[in-house]
Amino acid sequence: MSVMYDRVALIGLGLIASSMFWAMKRSGLAGEVTGYARSAETRDTAREIGLCDRVCDTAAEACEGADLIVLCVPIGAMETVARDIAGVLKPGAVVTDVGSVKRAVIDAVGPQLPDGVHFIPAHPLAGTEQSGPTAGFAELFENRWTLITPDGADAGEVANLRGFWEAMGAKVDEMDADHHDLVLAVTSHTPHLIAYTMVGVADDLGRVTDTEVINFSAAGFRDFTRIAASDPTMWRDVFLNNKDATLEILGRFTEELFALQRAIRQGDGEHLHEYFTRTRAIRRSIVEAGQDTDAPNFGRTTKP
Ligand code: NAP
Repeated sequence: MSVMYDRVALIGLGLIASSMFWAMKRSGLAGEVTGYARSAETRDTAREIGLCDRVCDTAAEACEGADLIVLCVPIGAMETVARDIAGVLKPGAVVTDVGSVKRAVIDAVGPQLPDGVHFIPAHPLAGTEQSGPTAGFAELFENRWTLITPDGADAGEVANLRGFWEAMGAKVDEMDADHHDLVLAVTSHTPHLIAYTMVGVADDLGRVTDTEVINFSAAGFRDFTRIAASDPTMWRDVFLNNKDATLEILGRFTEELFALQRAIRQGDGEHLHEYFTRTRAIRRSIVEAGQDTDAPNFGRTTKP
């Protein structure tokens, strides 16, 4: 594949940035890739493992002369990082991000950027519960969706960015930022909150020992623990920055939960059966869409 951006700067060198780097290198999509992370420790690790062609000690240095700048930091750090790099961005450069919430990032980053720079927010719907510079792998985005929320950006540059994500293996769609935040509240943010809660409940429950919880984790709880092991900083920032949509979905969730609670108390098996039949169909459509597997145990290993 040919070079799509001569100079790419990755700001933040965690799971997403490192996966992008390996995917770009595998397909030869970038001439030179520079990188910056906040801590000297992460920058040293990046240098040791050959993550980025050049690791810089400031975000501004990494962005000088870059054609594409990708902000790969937690949502709460986006505004500061954008302010730090604004002065060195060259005219015509494209700034994008990978944040899990879009409206808050647009409001935080957009005003910091100078005229003549294209800002195209994006969000790869791909991840693991691992974080940091060693967590990435080139295949992370393969057959996963990346949503671009153009917010009025130049159509040609949006098309280029779409091609770039496709070349890293992703399927790409465009969406309005507010709608993105509502969709993700349903499909990702609220489920994470529920997983965090369930693992917390198990931890608090004195009558079931920790060893019992660990040894007898049936698939459901084990999947909750995997999700609840996700990075605390990233998820704190997601909830603080997608407040309205998450609270709306959480309100609906609570109502449904109360209805199921009543059905259990009243012995209303018909209600429970109908409900579970409807939800089973949703699972089947996710498998049919190639977004998961129907292998036993969802194809995952037995490791917690
Ligand atoms: P990560 O592995 O935790 O890496 C975060 C990186 O950001 C680290 O290099 C960290 O530097 C740097 N950083 C943190 N705070 C910073 C600050 N205040 N200023 C400058 N740099 C800072 O995170 P990730 O999982 O790659 O997530 C990055 C972004 O992708 C987030 O916005 C997240 O919402 C989004 N995202 C994540 C997933 C996922 O499943 N993980 C999926 C899709 C999108 P140090 O190492 O030096 O602290």
